[in-house]
Amino acid sequence: PPRTVLITGCSSGIGLAMAVKLAADEEHRFKVIATMRDLKKKAKLESAAGSALGQTLQIKQLDVCDEKSIQDCVNSIPERQIDILVNNAGVGMVGPIECQNIEEMKGVFETNFFGVVRMIKEVLPDMKRRRSGHIVVVSSVMGLQGIMFNDIYTASKFAVEGFCESLIFQALKFNIFVSLIEPGPVVTDFEMKVYDEAIRGDYSKTDPETADMFTNLYLKNCRAVFSSLGQTPEEIAEHLLRVLTTERPPFRHQTNTVYTPITALKHADPSGELGTDVFYKMVFQYEALLHASLKAIKLLRWKAQKLQQGVRMLGF
Ligand code: NAD
Repeated sequence: PPRTVLITGCSSGIGLAMAVKLAADEEHRFKVIATMRDLKKKAKLESAAGSALGQTLQIKQLDVCDEKSIQDCVNSIPERQIDILVNNAGVGMVGPIECQNIEEMKGVFETNFFGVVRMIKEVLPDMKRRRSGHIVVVSSVMGLQGIMFNDIYTASKFAVEGFCESLIFQALKFNIFVSLIEPGPVVTDFEMKVYDEAIRGDYSKTDPETADMFTNLYLKNCRAVFSSLGQTPEEIAEHLLRVLTTERPPFRHQTNTVYTPITALKHADPSGELGTDVFYKMVFQYEALLHASLKAIKLLRWKAQKLQQGVRMLGF
């Protein structure tokens, strides 16, 4: 029988693409409950879903910041049976922290972190009882590595990573899989929304040097990174399908291999110097980057050899 998948934040971007992809599965492996905070925004999903609408895809209201809305949605599903929960809803925030207020920052955590916690709290007891289930969270490469001017967003994704890293142990005991999907840049409204707001922002609360660093260096660089390395939401949906259909789903899954060596730097050098040095040079001294990268590659290679030796010594 098809597995029931509930996805949050399906009115646009990655969530929409995921819902459409799973609902269109030729082997009919999924029944998709595509949820969104505001049903007035359902037209785009309806047209993208096409003939799957009302068949393998249903649209329901769910606000990850509202416990009542979560409960109403889950209770409306026969026997509350959710085999797969995909936590996708999220909001972005960029800029110098001097220009952001604490309430806005808390808002990011309300959605990106507590939104995930609320959802998991609601479905976990049922999954435990059935001794089966799969919880997927759309994290980010920024859940693994800090990026300049993304302090609060990155912190919210780190929080999600820490939460899941703790949850995974008891989950596995109940035969429940947990998977973090960690995309790099993805070209969606998300990026556009954040960018448009940022470009129109008021940076008078910070010093001129920081304001210039953000509006000129960062935002321009950001544009270039998105247009050269950005993936499409459909590519992320492909990755989700892969994660859902492998026999032993991975705990972490990066969708963009360009970022894998960068995120490995932290583990290569626990002092943090190597990662910080590479990122600093990436931002401020492009020419020195090549040299730092070569050093990093050498160190990573050496670490990998040591790790292999260690594993062999342990008798695996
Ligand atoms: P998006 O803005 O198109 O999608 C986010 C969705 O979440 C929107 O539909 C929005 O309405 C919804 N949402 C926000 N608050 C909600 C709430 N309280 N309840 C329910 N839904 C809510 O952007 P996207 O890029 O598709 O983002 C999806 C996820 O991917 C986010 O978690 C984001 O952090 C993550 N991500 C995005 C990128 C990127 O570059 N776009 C990269 C890595 C990770």
